[in-house]
Amino acid sequence: MPTTPSLPATDVVLIGAGIMSATLGLMLKELDPTLTITIFERLDVAAAESSDAWNNAGTGHSAFCELNYTPERPDGSIDISKALKIAEQFEQSKQFWAFLTEKYDVKEIQRFINYIPHMSFVMGRENVEFLRKRHAALTESALFKGMKFSDDRAEIESWMPLVMDGRDPAQTVAATRMDLGTDVNFGSLTRGMFYLLQEKPGVTMHFHHEVEKLHHNADGSWRIKTQNLETDQDVETQAKFVFIGAGGGSLPLLEKSHIPEAAGYGGFPVSGQWLRCVNPAVIARHNAKVYGKASVGSPPMSVPHLDTRMIDGEKQLLFGPYAGFSTKFLKTGSYFDLPASIQFGNVKPMIMAGLKNLSLTKYLIQQVRQSPDDRVAALREYLPEAQAQDWELAIAGQRVQVIKKDKKQGGVLEFGTEVVTAADGTIAALLGASPGASTAVSIMLNLVQKCFPEQSATPEWQAKFREMVPTLGHKLADEPELVNKTRTRTSTILGLVTPEELGV
Ligand SMILES: Cc1cc2nc3c(=O)[nH]c(=O)nc-3n(C[C@H](O)[C@H](O)[C@H](O)COP(=O)(O)OP(=O)(O)OC[C@H]3O[C@@H](n4cnc5c(N)ncnc54)[C@H](O)[C@@H]3O)c2cc1C
Repeated sequence: MPTTPSLPATDVVLIGAGIMSATLGLMLKELDPTLTITIFERLDVAAAESSDAWNNAGTGHSAFCELNYTPERPDGSIDISKALKIAEQFEQSKQFWAFLTEKYDVKEIQRFINYIPHMSFVMGRENVEFLRKRHAALTESALFKGMKFSDDRAEIESWMPLVMDGRDPAQTVAATRMDLGTDVNFGSLTRGMFYLLQEKPGVTMHFHHEVEKLHHNADGSWRIKTQNLETDQDVETQAKFVFIGAGGGSLPLLEKSHIPEAAGYGGFPVSGQWLRCVNPAVIARHNAKVYGKASVGSPPMSVPHLDTRMIDGEKQLLFGPYAGFSTKFLKTGSYFDLPASIQFGNVKPMIMAGLKNLSLTKYLIQQVRQSPDDRVAALREYLPEAQAQDWELAIAGQRVQVIKKDKKQGGVLEFGTEVVTAADGTIAALLGASPGASTAVSIMLNLVQKCFPEQSATPEWQAKFREMVPTLGHKLADEPELVNKTRTRTSTILGLVTPEELGV
């Protein structure tokens, strides 16, 4: 039998060329420039799945406008703990990006981020009260300084004219506005980061290479079998550490690792669609990311939003996402992905999670059955005067929501991200998609500290962590001066106007 050709052994293998692998790869190379890193990507370019600009909403998630991050407690008060965490995580991301921008003069990662006001918009008396309380609770923290609330129709009209044009004057409405919100082109950022990574000694990138098998060797290292999709040839490599950053493709690979920590995980794919505006006059009249409130029974990722985007220097406008159902785990995946992921160990959690989430199933069926007229009707709730001919349907990225074992309920469906790590720290996988790319830096800082505990504790790595993310170890919500100082610094380096210039 012919032997499988081998690539040189490496310290680190990164599976998938999305924002997560890019962030981890650069971070590790900064921490230890001698590390060798091999990257395998099944497509012919980096960031072509969820991280691509047209596949996600590009919201720099800071909890400024996302109402699902601030749930109302049964006593009517607002729980802002998740919002504080996400706002702080996004500040860490900006610090890492500022570090890269300052250190490397790379045009590929310039202008990937822009200030776009983040607004929440609600209709109906109950929702207006919720928004008022949310605003009062959030603005007690320095992280939300400058957020404005308004229930004055004229003021709201000046913030979002398209949303107010033609709106029923009898309808009660309110909005909040945060000028420090951002739009991020995660696709160009990711490609820029891989450009930097590839330039470094000891880094090799293989496109058209799909990882098929993972084998844990007796000495703790990993054998990775990959198929070259251009030649159909299999190749093998050995690595001391593997990161499965394959987006929707992470779950099947985690299952193939056979680590005990993978047992019981399943995935539920949810696809998305946008309406993309094709009328430049309409695009020009909107300048905000406006997030509404999810309808009852719908999953948090389907919160309707009207997004101004800056993609490749051009202003764009998207509305959505409309949820859908497909058994594919990747946009470019296979319809067998979902059935193939069902195993003896996760079938019970998957059934139990399915039974507990019948409202989600109902919601997805209703979304899938939507006609073009239904979609325009949903758009008109936010843009009463929208014209069907100004909008075309576009397919967004695929998300795979995490299902995991739960002692009490048998199985639960999660809407966040989950890092699964082997006890010996030699392999880690990232599952789930929310809040996603915005929090990549904080996710990877935690992953590095967990998988490289000894090196992370050394003074050299500690100093480097602080160079990359100066506020690490601080709780920004408790340090108003540090929030201002940090935001001013990152804004200046990233080419944004400063908070002072914005009057915040
Ligand atoms: C509709 C939608 C809207 C979103 N909106 C936002 C938002 O507004 N803000 C935000 O911060 N986040 C958002 N997200 C989430 C964000 O896009 C993701 O969290 C992030 O892009 C995930 O990055 P990743 O690197 O894990 O995966 P990906 O970018 O999907 O990269 C994974 C890569 O792995 C490759 N791959 C898969 N299997 C294999 C294999 N076996 N071998 C080799 N390569 C493989 C894929 O081809 C792909 O290139 C959104 C996501 C979606 C779908």
